[in-house]
Amino acid sequence: MTRFPRADYDAIRRYDPERAPVRVDLSDNTNLWGTHPGALERVRHASTDDVARYPELYADELRAAVSERFDVPMESVTTGAGSDDILDSTFRAAWGPGAHIAYAAPTFSMVEPFARMNGLDAHAVPWPAADVDPSLLLEGDPALVYVCRPNNPTGHLAPRGWLDELLAARGPDGPLVIIDEAYADFAGDTVISDAPEIPNLLVARTTSKAYGLAGMRCGFAVGAPLVALAVEKSRGPYKVGGLAAAAAATAVRDEEGWLPGVIERCLDNRARLMDELDSRGLQPLPSSANFVLCSAPTGSARRDALALRAVGIGVRPFSKIPELGDALRITIGPWEMMDDLLDALDRTFTRREAS
Ligand code: PMP
Repeated sequence: MTRFPRADYDAIRRYDPERAPVRVDLSDNTNLWGTHPGALERVRHASTDDVARYPELYADELRAAVSERFDVPMESVTTGAGSDDILDSTFRAAWGPGAHIAYAAPTFSMVEPFARMNGLDAHAVPWPAADVDPSLLLEGDPALVYVCRPNNPTGHLAPRGWLDELLAARGPDGPLVIIDEAYADFAGDTVISDAPEIPNLLVARTTSKAYGLAGMRCGFAVGAPLVALAVEKSRGPYKVGGLAAAAAATAVRDEEGWLPGVIERCLDNRARLMDELDSRGLQPLPSSANFVLCSAPTGSARRDALALRAVGIGVRPFSKIPELGDALRITIGPWEMMDDLLDALDRTFTRREAS
């Protein structure tokens, strides 16, 4: 019998969120207004060399765009094939016998599997409605602490003071704190430009959400130069496709000023949808991201998500959310999509309650 894979891979499942194509897909927090126009133009005008030759080793054009946009030195920037890749590479670089990563849960569902894939123990600290005591995350001397800000799936933005406390608690000799800012464009609150000066901080970003480039698989991160270098080593060369990097660089520069308009529309629709959900008794949680989490109409998230899917609406089910129990996460999009969702909620659940 082959010794492949490692014994602890038995506990790791292949990612399968039961996401078949659906008429209105509000399940993955991508940009439902489309994609960055300049980035799309760049992809449309791909040259033979863009496709036939290897890309830059470490996506320097994208690193330069990030450096300029966020006013950080280029040596502080690293990139990856999606921010998933950056998390994975960072976790790999932190491995050591008995090393663990701590995080408050519920949070981004890939953190635990990425930890296990990379041989790290995963310590989840329950995340109640209020913020977790930072000292709980530091128990047992973790190698890494992961914080999603704003958090997926709750939309909660951990206060800046809380973050400062976490970073200061053990200082540079403590764990590396990874702040996942996948949704920070919608929060208008970021620590990315501070990261080069803080030796125990790495801020990860994606171009899959606000920039509308999920299909390109590209992300970037900013930290102290030594932290960024360690992630680059773990990541390896040629990881970001040339077209993905070029499209991402175009979107990060955003010379057209497309991004602020999309964010404004998203925030307007988020407020409007929250009112609609509230008036249906679905208790949406306050959100700083491009999604809202609300209670599941019948109390069973899985069943409710399947019922909505049957009428063409995709949402993401979650169970055991503090204060909500079973819950549905809904991506904010153009109002016609929100109307379709509300219509489906009314038809599906009013009918069920009446019968
Ligand atoms: N972090 C968070 C919090 C996310 O929600 C996601 C995507 N769902 C990612 C990272 C990964 O994004 P990508 O790999 O597409 O950059």
